[in-house]
Amino acid sequence: MPFPIFFWDPTYILILIGLAISGLASGYVQSTYNKYSQVKSKNGYTASEVSRMILDTAGLEHVRLEGIRGNLTDHYNSQEDVLRLSDTTRNSTSVAAIGVAAHEAGHAIQDHVNYGPLRLRTALVPITNFGQGISIPLILIGFLFGGNQTLIDLGILFFSLTLVFQLVTLPVEFNASNRAIAILEDSGILTAEEVPQAEKVLRAAALTYVAAAIASFLNVLRLFLLFSGRRRD
Ligand SMILES: [Zn+2]
Repeated sequence: MPFPIFFWDPTYILILIGLAISGLASGYVQSTYNKYSQVKSKNGYTASEVSRMILDTAGLEHVRLEGIRGNLTDHYNSQEDVLRLSDTTRNSTSVAAIGVAAHEAGHAIQDHVNYGPLRLRTALVPITNFGQGISIPLILIGFLFGGNQTLIDLGILFFSLTLVFQLVTLPVEFNASNRAIAILEDSGILTAEEVPQAEKVLRAAALTYVAAAIASFLNVLRLFLLFSGRRRD
């Protein structure tokens, strides 16, 4: 049996299914965003004005707003206390851009109120990175040294940390969107007709995280199928 991580084997189909699901999800978020980026909000606030208003209302005057290049690269960085809005979002008055801006402000509020899943997610970053680095080498070494099942299982376990990270990401993302929608509705930043439109954009964006978790699960499943059955040989 050739070393299966680098060669074609039937379980490779799982990777391809994961890639297809991720591709479909990102196509869907892009087309939903494009659709609602044509819908200008009646109140006429720009996305960066909306972020500023939400942050200030939440007592987060110290969180800075910055621009970032690219398309849908918007994010909140808790280490730097910075909310970055992308070129496509920043100066737009569309319901899509305002939805994204409010979502990122939602992350800042999560940080401020010590939202548990966000803390857990932050704590998992170094562990997940370590796991990603060491998992394949461990499996390789275990495989080459006569199928050492302990090393292989340890490798799969480290590999699974990515899936755990993706799963913890889900409540963080859904919660940021729920906060965003509630704020946009209660504050009157968006009208009653516009709120569901912004919600569609954020739901579509959340699907990309669901897709990433599914792809991650399929990756773990593949390794499990390839290596875990060896003890029954
Ligand atoms: Zn987010």
